[in-house]
Amino acid sequence: MQLVFASNNKNKILEIQSMLPESIKILSLEDIGCIEDIPETADTIEGNAILKANYVTQKYGFDCFADDTGLEVDSLDGEPGVFSARYAGEQRNADDNMSKLLDALSNKTNRKAQFKTVIALNLNGEQELFTGIVRGEITLKKTGNQGFGYDPIFQPEGFSETFAQLLLEMKNKIGHRGKATQLLISFLKKKK
Ligand code: IMP
Repeated sequence: MQLVFASNNKNKILEIQSMLPESIKILSLEDIGCIEDIPETADTIEGNAILKANYVTQKYGFDCFADDTGLEVDSLDGEPGVFSARYAGEQRNADDNMSKLLDALSNKTNRKAQFKTVIALNLNGEQELFTGIVRGEITLKKTGNQGFGYDPIFQPEGFSETFAQLLLEMKNKIGHRGKATQLLISFLKKKK
């Protein structure tokens, strides 16, 4: 089975390939000659994952999966959500995004939030969605220097450290992307 992962992040591609049986070959966007930016114009996380997977399947004819992630804050009605990358503007700066979120929560007592990853898979003419969620809360200040994005201000439930203080293995085990990826992998292993 050949499957495109609609990503050019080599680490993500190697990581997922290493978790799959050899009979499932993962191709990158570069491998199939897709060098253009794929539109991410949907207004939900699910919608963007579907848009990316469908773009590759419809334009290039490959079975494909794509992921999209956002941070949803309860007291902000799920914001920044699908806008997580560009919350503080098109410069997509993680530090600015975190500062804006800390400001938005300065007068709120409920700081509960969740990271959500949705993976959309197009396989043999059918579409499946896999969702991974990790609940937690937004801390009062930025702490830790591992990871990326909102990691320094997200403390997962049951932990006293932020994602930016946890080892990557732990983040992958309890985190949103890891959970969605495990669901995809179990599904693919049954199909091979
Ligand atoms: P993407 O869909 O994986 O590109 O994620 C969209 C945005 O969500 C990123 O630009 C980050 O701001 C945020 N994000 C996604 N995953 C994580 C994570 O694991 N930790 C912190 N922030 C994340």
